[in-house]
Amino acid sequence: MIKTERKILFWSFLAALFLWCTDAFVDAFAFKQGTFLDELLFDVSSHELYFRSFFAICFIIFGLVVSRFMSKHSVAEEILKKNTAAIETSMDGVAIYDSRDVYQYANQSYAQINGYDSPNEVMGKTCIHIYGDKEYERMQQKVVPLLKKNGRWRGELVARRKNGSSYIQEASISMLEDGGRVCIVRDITWRKRSEDRLQRSERFLNTIFNSIRDPFCILDNEFRIIRVNEAYAQLKNKAFSDLIGSRCFEALEGKKDICEACVVNKTFQAGDPFAKDKLVTLPDGTPVWVEIYTYPILDEGGRVSHVIEYTRDVTDRKKSEEEKRRLIDRLEYLSRTDALTGLINRRALTDSLTYEMDRAKRYGSGLSLILCDIDNFKEINDNYGHDMGDRALQMLSGTLKSMLRRTDIAGRYGGDEFMIILPETAAGGAESLADKLLSEIRKSDLRFDDGKQVSLSMSIGIACMTGEEETPDSLVKRADAALYTSKQGGRDRVSTMKMEKEKLPPG
Ligand code: GH3
Ligand code: MG
Repeated sequence: MIKTERKILFWSFLAALFLWCTDAFVDAFAFKQGTFLDELLFDVSSHELYFRSFFAICFIIFGLVVSRFMSKHSVAEEILKKNTAAIETSMDGVAIYDSRDVYQYANQSYAQINGYDSPNEVMGKTCIHIYGDKEYERMQQKVVPLLKKNGRWRGELVARRKNGSSYIQEASISMLEDGGRVCIVRDITWRKRSEDRLQRSERFLNTIFNSIRDPFCILDNEFRIIRVNEAYAQLKNKAFSDLIGSRCFEALEGKKDICEACVVNKTFQAGDPFAKDKLVTLPDGTPVWVEIYTYPILDEGGRVSHVIEYTRDVTDRKKSEEEKRRLIDRLEYLSRTDALTGLINRRALTDSLTYEMDRAKRYGSGLSLILCDIDNFKEINDNYGHDMGDRALQMLSGTLKSMLRRTDIAGRYGGDEFMIILPETAAGGAESLADKLLSEIRKSDLRFDDGKQVSLSMSIGIACMTGEEETPDSLVKRADAALYTSKQGGRDRVSTMKMEKEKLPPG
């Protein structure tokens, strides 16, 4: 109950009470019918009672009716005040014009949007003033029929400010019963401009996107593909519609979760670019090597909101890398192999000897070294030619290879000299192998094209690793000394150098 209403009710009760008291007073003092108290409360005739009660009730009913009316009126007034204030202070421009398109009302925003200082300046003007001839004509043809049909219309209009400049407004117009219209407008020039800018940059981006020949894709942080170019769709053999909006692992791999070693995931996690090589199969079945690069796109908070995935065909690079590796392997092989015999060469023998001696020291196992030199090889060269000498070297190499264990290492030490490294072998084992080798070589005759045969023999020197102080150099020296002993002893024999200082060759 509002304040005025309460006041009216209070005064109605007071008037009823006053009437009661006044009538009692007149009866007591003017007509002397009794004491005032009797006339007021105790000795009131039924006629008086009805009379006073009737008027008291009339006053109260009157008060109630008036207060009710006042209350409704006040509420309506309050609502109207609020609505008016809302319209007056609205950021949107609100205007009412009559059936002749003459402005009857405009709020401050409407005036401002149209470049006027106050609504009074707008009042009395017609719509042609605000919209100009051309736009007004368009409104008559396009907007008014729809307004008449639907009662309301919403769309964009081009209006003219007081200074003559035009702007785009978003307008919502409703028909009134008397043929007038209420129009709510908003200046959307700025929004339109940003939309245009956005569209322009979108077109710009699209052009860049489609000009990139390599497959290109952008994913959001739920691994949804939000953009791909033609090349990407082709590489994946998918339609655009199958890719856009789909999660990459579902659309491309048919998986339910992120793929293992996914570089997109790595970029989301670390915020850094990543790259990896991958062998993929093109739709036509051709296998190609691609390099996948990922780059993070950060939001204002520095978090990775999107990842760019860029794929490049690196098959040619991979091929040349493989070629290079093969070439290096070949060179490495050649640098360690003797071209004539196919055995490892002196350099590789020295490396192997160092390695095997280290191993033998570490595990406390033995190691023997054999040096062999063909007897009177010069004579073969001199008597039968260098080619025949080469054949003799190849044949002996074959014999060596065929007689060794998998763990033994044989190589051409130089000229007609061969070295055999025997890991985990003591002097006895080496001597027995050397004997077998000599008898095998004695058996293998070298045959010439004219049927002539030449028998070969070798002298062998053996040295065994003695202890921790032993070096490859000292071991080779002792084997060489043993070989010298065999040569001195008449060739085609085996000598073993057991103690270093005992049997060193003179000089
Ligand atoms: P000895 O019994 O004392 O060893 O006598 P030898 O004639 O074998 O003498 P030596 O071992 O010193 O001579 C090795 C010869 O081997 C010298 C060289 O002409 C020959 N030779 C070295 N490398 C090759 C090669 O690749 N092919 C051929 N055919 N001969 C080679
Ligand atoms: Mg020789």
